[in-house]
Amino acid sequence: MGHVTRIVIIGGGPGGYEAALVAAQLGAEVTVVDCDGLGGASVLTDCVPSKTLIATAEVMTTFDSSYEELGIIVADDTPPIEQAARVVGVDLGKVNRRVKRLALAQSHDITQSVTRAGGRVMRGRGRLTGAQQTDGVRRVAVEAVDGSTETLIADAVLIATGAHPRELADAQPDGERILTWTQVYDLDELPEELIVVGSGVTGAEFAGAYQALGSKVTLVSSRDRVLPGEDPDAAAVLEDVFRRRGMNVMARSRAESVKRIGDGVEVTLSDGRVITGSHCLMAVGSIPNTAGMGLEEAGVRLKDSGHVWTDRVSRTTAPGIYAAGDCTGVLMLASVAAMQGRIAMYHILGDAVTPLNLKTVASNVFTDPEIATVGYTQADVDSGKIAAKDVKLPLLRNPRAKMQGIRDGFVKLFARPGTGIVVGGVVVSPRASELIHPISIAVDNNLTVEQIASAFTVYPSLSGSIAEVARQLHTRKAAEDYL
Ligand SMILES: Cc1cc2nc3c(=O)[nH]c(=O)nc-3n(C[C@H](O)[C@H](O)[C@H](O)COP(=O)(O)OP(=O)(O)OC[C@H]3O[C@@H](n4cnc5c(N)ncnc54)[C@H](O)[C@@H]3O)c2cc1C
Repeated sequence: MGHVTRIVIIGGGPGGYEAALVAAQLGAEVTVVDCDGLGGASVLTDCVPSKTLIATAEVMTTFDSSYEELGIIVADDTPPIEQAARVVGVDLGKVNRRVKRLALAQSHDITQSVTRAGGRVMRGRGRLTGAQQTDGVRRVAVEAVDGSTETLIADAVLIATGAHPRELADAQPDGERILTWTQVYDLDELPEELIVVGSGVTGAEFAGAYQALGSKVTLVSSRDRVLPGEDPDAAAVLEDVFRRRGMNVMARSRAESVKRIGDGVEVTLSDGRVITGSHCLMAVGSIPNTAGMGLEEAGVRLKDSGHVWTDRVSRTTAPGIYAAGDCTGVLMLASVAAMQGRIAMYHILGDAVTPLNLKTVASNVFTDPEIATVGYTQADVDSGKIAAKDVKLPLLRNPRAKMQGIRDGFVKLFARPGTGIVVGGVVVSPRASELIHPISIAVDNNLTVEQIASAFTVYPSLSGSIAEVARQLHTRKAAEDYL
């Protein structure tokens, strides 16, 4: 009988559990060690809970604009403008109980999938012990949640330990008024005045969601605009929407300290200004979970940021040790973590491997409107990293958008001059996360603007704008070819 490859995975988020499923399917003996439960932070505290909360926020936004845009009257026939208070509200305790229930159920389903596939799941904390043995194996010490310990022998180890919220020394979360994004689901009542520190994706998503749920929101951004890492046109649309809905967006404002004062919070900015609110949510980035795991002792190189260095097939600098997901800092997305984890297993187990290609990753900011992007970006084009032409079409001109009362948003495509191959795109609209897929297929398969333009779209539909943008790029290209 042939030797069965023994794989130990430390961390059971998307990077770890997706790898475990692949390893089990390919016939390896696989153990996943996780201290919090399978699904990891993605399922238990980050991605799944935030999108579940946002599902409620979306309904609230629809109600908010439903009278003006669509003529819907809620609860009684007094027009909303004449009502003293909103007639629709949320029971945050109930919303949060649903969030937690759904997260636990998802974690349970994932555990079942992994065990059904033949993997072993251990609840505990894993750590590498020492260097590679002369026979090539690695040892992982596991301290189980019940206090027992066990040493696992592995032919290969995957580190997929994720990351945790960064905290500022002068803004320590107390879990009641000063919160990280993992603590907000313990709230029973809606924050009256929420100050969100940080305007990256996490900050923007929560600011938008709580604003929709009914909180008065102040968004403190140290940069010139919200979402500094996203498409500038898309970020401008979102900032405009935020302000129009009454959010106080404070640009170029760095929070220095956050203090709890009685039943509220006080945020001091670096220029001395002080703002007050009932709660403060800190969304100032994350720290990789790589400390105290024996990584460097085992020969794994860490970057200055603490992230694990990996190549495009998820290898670290230590033989037999791979890494995937947020602990590598490659791109903080569940989908990328999962792909890195799968790639590691294909590589370890001798299956066909396609190295990670970040240029085809589709991602979405779950605000209202959503911002979905794939491929090369405006910054890549502006900096000359790639030669591409772009066309942007506002959704205001789309017939379906008009019927549905959608005013904000656009579709933008980037295509290579000459060939017309689509290399990237941005969609800003409700459900942009669903609309980006045809563009994603185009980018992944080197389709041309002609090919996108010639495919039928439903009339009326928002996706009609994608075909229209492609048509405009095609016409432009044809005119240039003629010259
Ligand atoms: C608020 C928020 C919303 C997000 N929304 C999205 C989204 O909509 N879409 C998207 O694609 N991405 C989203 N992300 C990013 C996404 O959550 C991460 O990219 C993803 O969780 C990374 O997966 P991972 O496998 O690297 O680690 P994680 O999901 O962080 O899981 C790692 C697991 O390892 C465990 N662990 C750590 N150390 C050890 C140890 N020594 N021993 C055993 N176990 C250990 C941890 O407890 C955890 O359970 C969001 C992030 C945040 C913060």
